[in-house]
Parts: sequence; C-alpha cells; structure tokens
Amino acid sequence: MSLETVPKDLRGLRACLVCSLIKTFDQFEYDGCDNCDEFLRMKNNKDNVYDCTSNNFDGMIAVMSPEDSWVCKWQRISRFCKGVYAISVSGRLPAGVIREMKSRGYVYRPRDTSQR
Ligand SMILES: [Zn+2]
Repeated sequence: MSLETVPKDLRGLRACLVCSLIKTFDQFEYDGCDNCDEFLRMKNNKDNVYDCTSNNFDGMIAVMSPEDSWVCKWQRISRFCKGVYAISVSGRLPAGVIREMKSRGYVYRPRDTSQR
C-alpha cells in the first residue's frame, strides 16, 4: 500500500471535494490529490487546495482494495487509489473547476450527502 495516500497527521485533515480522499493540507499541497490532480492541480498550489478540499467532512473509510469492495462501489470510489476516504464532504467546488472537469469528460457529483 502506498503510504503517500494515508493521512500523516490527524490534525489539519481535509477531504477532496471530487473524490473524498482524506489527507492533510500539507499532503495535498505537496502531492496533490492522487485521483484528481490532473484537473484540480493542487500540487504546490495552496489556493487550489483551499478551493478543492474541505475540512468539513463526515465518516472515514480506509480502503485497501477498492475494486473488490461493495462499500467502495456504493461510495463510487472503486476506481480510485487506496487510501482513506470520507463518507460525506461538505463544500462546493468552484464553478471554474467544474467547467474544467466537464471539458475533460468528467461528471462532477457533489460529495455532500448530509442534506439529502
Ligand atoms: Zn480527489
């Protein structure tokens, strides 16, 4: 298992608004999001980390083999890398980022399930 995707600290944790991966702010800043950095570009970009991750999330799932897990299928994270994921993430992705995703053929589904 790649240790880069596991939160190194329990403080300063944030969850990606697109895939719900949980890491520390610093990890997002140093490595970007392991699933989404192609379009979120958080690596070495503090502003994007603030915009595209949220410190307001609920529940945690540690994922070892996403392809085999029904929980991952349910959470729509079975194609993502191993790591720790939030069950619900509050916050909104900036409109510009949603447009960018669309232009690359990705559909953005908000991760906030607390209001449903
Ligand atoms: Zn992500």
